[in-house]
Amino acid sequence: MNRIYLDHSATTPMLPEVREAMLPYLGETFGNPSSLHWFGQEARRAVERARGKVAGVLGALPEEIFFTSGGTESDNWALLGSARVQAERDPGRNHLITSEIEHHAILHTAAELGRRGYDIDRLGVDENGRIDPDALEELVRPETFLVSIMLANNEVGTIQPVADIARRVREKNEQIVIHTDAVQAVGKIPVRLRELPADLLSISAHKFYGPKGVGLLFIRQGTRMPSFFFGGGQEKNRRAGTENVAGIVGMARALEISVRDLEEVNARIRGLQGRLENGLRNKIPDMRINGHPEKRVPGVTNVSIPGVEGESVVLNLDLRGIAASAGSACTSGSVEPSHVLHAMGISPELARGSVRFSLGRGNTAEEMDLVAGALAEIVDTLRSMSVPA
Ligand code: PLP
Repeated sequence: MNRIYLDHSATTPMLPEVREAMLPYLGETFGNPSSLHWFGQEARRAVERARGKVAGVLGALPEEIFFTSGGTESDNWALLGSARVQAERDPGRNHLITSEIEHHAILHTAAELGRRGYDIDRLGVDENGRIDPDALEELVRPETFLVSIMLANNEVGTIQPVADIARRVREKNEQIVIHTDAVQAVGKIPVRLRELPADLLSISAHKFYGPKGVGLLFIRQGTRMPSFFFGGGQEKNRRAGTENVAGIVGMARALEISVRDLEEVNARIRGLQGRLENGLRNKIPDMRINGHPEKRVPGVTNVSIPGVEGESVVLNLDLRGIAASAGSACTSGSVEPSHVLHAMGISPELARGSVRFSLGRGNTAEEMDLVAGALAEIVDTLRSMSVPA
């Protein structure tokens, strides 16, 4: 069976160039970067070269890049670390602002801070999944110490006005730390830390054709951030644990390539996405496309289809060799409609019929036509099987 992969927001296949760059560090160059001998120093040089590359691509300083195990760790570190600094500085300032549509790496960490006595505001979004910067500004109070808003959403792809938000928050109180989860943005839209006034930014390599289990937290110079783990003095005493050398090298190569090819790949993906969406609209006229019509990362098409269950659609697509993802999460046997679609005001019934297609570098026009046709057939079959209420 010729399989079609349309789940690049979940993860991307590693590029051959990335694998090639990593291979020496999975083989002969195996030293521990903290060792003083030749083996160790070879590995140390690779890590520092990668740090320099990543910093250059993002417009940051090498000293501002801290390697982690991925987006989840970076998000946890950003929130819990900022809270710890604040508790030492001024325990009375315990207010944090985030949004309702963040990834669970942020939402569940914020909930944990709530359990520890922090005051959390989760800002809602409009029907396109966008935050209103005016509404966010209104939430800022003297006790606010952290604002964490994602740059691009993982379910619907909507891009948030993080630069504008950061500037406004700064104007109100320049001590407030600004974090952004850029996991779904890097490699899809330009992210330059000279223009984006965030103090902390999370990245994950496997979302831009790099390896899994590696990411980074950008910590702007002057931002206090304690070590998240206790142990060795790696990453300037801020992230204990022997570095994932091969992963770090792979991430740097993947970032370089993704940013180098960004415009060309995006132009192609936008073309394919237009073809897919037109095909779907023609075949399933009552379907709705979720997310902002323009301010959306290229390649993410989240649709809600009345009268079907997203899970059933995804399973049926899989039987035909097509990989997509349901816009709802299956928790302990019950299907919970997506918190993102809920925040956008989509009814639970319609949200249950949601499917996310996320395109990538390897997709073709022929695949788009096949998927549109397959989806229409599956929807017809499922609708004919459903018992009217
Ligand atoms: N943040 C966002 C927006 C994501 O989409 C993801 C992954 O899906 C994460 C964080 C978690 O990243 P990781 O898989 O590297 O832990």
